[in-house]
Amino acid sequence: MDLLEYQGKQFFAKYGIPVSDGEATDNVDDAVAIADRIGYPVVIKAQVHTGGRGKAGGVKLAGNTEEARTHASNILGLDIKGHIVRTIWVEKASDIAEEYYASFTLDRSAKKYLGMLSSEGGVEIEKVADENPDAIARIHIDPTVGLIEDQCRSWVEAAKLNPQATDGAVDILMKLYTAYVEGDADLVEINPLILKPTGEVHALDAKVSLDGNAIYEHPDYEQYDKTQPRDEREQAAHDKGLQYVGLEGTVGVIANGAGLAMSTVDMVNQVGGKPANFLDIGGGANADVMAGALEVINNDPDVKAILINIFGGITRGEEVANGIVEAMERVDIDAPIVIRLDGTNAAEGRAILEPKLSDRLMMEETMLDAARRAVELAE
Ligand code: GDP
Ligand code: MN
Repeated sequence: MDLLEYQGKQFFAKYGIPVSDGEATDNVDDAVAIADRIGYPVVIKAQVHTGGRGKAGGVKLAGNTEEARTHASNILGLDIKGHIVRTIWVEKASDIAEEYYASFTLDRSAKKYLGMLSSEGGVEIEKVADENPDAIARIHIDPTVGLIEDQCRSWVEAAKLNPQATDGAVDILMKLYTAYVEGDADLVEINPLILKPTGEVHALDAKVSLDGNAIYEHPDYEQYDKTQPRDEREQAAHDKGLQYVGLEGTVGVIANGAGLAMSTVDMVNQVGGKPANFLDIGGGANADVMAGALEVINNDPDVKAILINIFGGITRGEEVANGIVEAMERVDIDAPIVIRLDGTNAAEGRAILEPKLSDRLMMEETMLDAARRAVELAE
């Protein structure tokens, strides 16, 4: 679960890490009111689940009301690496003397936590690792022991920050470590961690990824789940109550039952195709559900053929067949459809579909043949 910056800052604040006073909003008027209340200069920051916002024009300093309005309207709606900005965060601007980098994450191979600290912050850490790896001080922490303050101080000294920043950095890193462990985070990152001209150390950015499984122990994490970015297709499917997972391929897949849907995805791969999705329409494959499923798949521009794989159980073949026929009347489908219908009352179902068959709607006896046909059509 990836947090937006402002959520990350609120998370940090719970653990006593100093962050700037600010407020989030989704509209320009509120942004201006917040800026007026906080007092200028303020920084207006795009809240999206991706980094590099500064470079993309998503972080702007405003010195007065007018600038706040201009920046807020420019940033809202901005496309940052495919993420449209719907929320902005307005915070008190900070004076910066130096920019550092700090993070904790898990080093799986070492079975330890890994702390990284660098005097070269404000740029992507991958870039620092590439160009100047010695500028990153690393520390491995045994989870059963935790981070000892003396160890933390040596680590900070090894990173060669401005000596003025040492105490403040140690204090923040100890708190950041606590946040990382107690908050069940997979990653906590501050980039930049700044030294102010006044000597204080302060978190200017926040990147936090929480363990989604920890939501049961932290009921307040529910709020973060709601703002998770979703694939547009997944969002549409989710809204229709469908069990859908977006994939990268060209063969749209509809099946009833999670097991059958998974085997169908596998089968498409096996015969050399690439599934566009996993979609389980569950037991009740009626016209409504089928129309919804076809709509979601039809809206995926990558889909070149659709494979419907139904094994009738409680849902009888003729119900499924009627559902498909009705759904096709309701949704204008772009890609050709290949159906494999088996199980309870399959013969009755096929009889219903038979007169409707064309080069837009085909039927195959077996799952394998249907997958082959769909993959051929998608090519
Ligand atoms: P990112 O580009 O998505 O990582 O966004 P950041 O929150 O890290 O901001 C990018 C850059 O904007 C920082 O590295 C700073 O140089 C600058 N910046 C952000 N907030 C402030 C601020 O309060 N004062 C000043 N002077 N610069 C800021
Ligand atoms: Mn940053």
